[in-house]
Amino acid sequence: MSVTPLVVDLKRGSLDDGTGIRSVLFFKGCPLRCVWCHNPEAISPKAQLQRNPEACVGCRTCEQVCPRGVARSGAHPEERSDCLLCGLCARRCPAGARRLVGQALPVDEVVAQLLEDEPFYRRSGGGVTLSGGEPTQYPVFSGQIAAAMRGHGVHVLLETCGHFAWRAFAEHLLPHLDTVYFDLKLADPDAHRTYCGRDNALIHENLQRLVEDARVELLPRVPLIPGITDSQENLKALGELIRRVGLERVSLMPYNPLWLSKRRGLGMELPYEHAEWMSAETVAACEDAMRGLGLTAG
Ligand code: SF4
Ligand code: SF4
Repeated sequence: MSVTPLVVDLKRGSLDDGTGIRSVLFFKGCPLRCVWCHNPEAISPKAQLQRNPEACVGCRTCEQVCPRGVARSGAHPEERSDCLLCGLCARRCPAGARRLVGQALPVDEVVAQLLEDEPFYRRSGGGVTLSGGEPTQYPVFSGQIAAAMRGHGVHVLLETCGHFAWRAFAEHLLPHLDTVYFDLKLADPDAHRTYCGRDNALIHENLQRLVEDARVELLPRVPLIPGITDSQENLKALGELIRRVGLERVSLMPYNPLWLSKRRGLGMELPYEHAEWMSAETVAACEDAMRGLGLTAG
């Protein structure tokens, strides 16, 4: 069955999600529940209202236009269960302090928007990145976009949490990919279940399958989360797994705390809180742990 997903954003001109200049399509919906998720607006597959109280200028337009009497200025509490998700407050807010996250876009429209930057991709060695959320949750939809891009000679990169049904992925999406960034978080299955909502068995199986398939360039990535994934023990175990499947490179992603305000703005609980940026010394120690196993780390 083909499911039309909601899209969080189509970000153009990105320099962070692969080589060169890229457009990044962020899907809404993820099978994992990582307590540190840096894109909390992409966890739920449903539309959500996101507030940014720091941008609010206190005009109270949102309160005046809200048909349910839900909207409140600034950081005043709202009864979200009564919200219709009509988006009126977001459209009328003069400060961009409210946003309705989650838009249903047809494939043709997404492709047309992505192709607008095709000259930049070509000149910079960039392309299109499918991210999220989890694009593999929608293999037909994301596969159609990837196929259209490849048809125009555009490089396509997938960022994935690795938890997906292999058969549908291999049939619809994999044939149209050039590169996969594959996230690994915790080597211990129980810790993975505790901090990410599911164990890691399927993720490790899919990593092995992708290596054996050998069709795409594959880069494992590890988010460095203070007190959770950045222990020497976990990094050593993940590094050994990466070596065991036959890969030689790993990308380490240093922690940043910017997700905290996004999560608060969505009215979500904070199951984990760490407000400091990761120091260069900590990142270097993590890289050393991977290099000690013979991996190229950066
Ligand atoms: S409309 Fe926007 S700026 Fe005005 S009170 Fe509401 S959130 Fe604040
Ligand atoms: S999305 Fe609609 S119902 Fe919800 S707070 Fe805004 S105006 Fe009110």
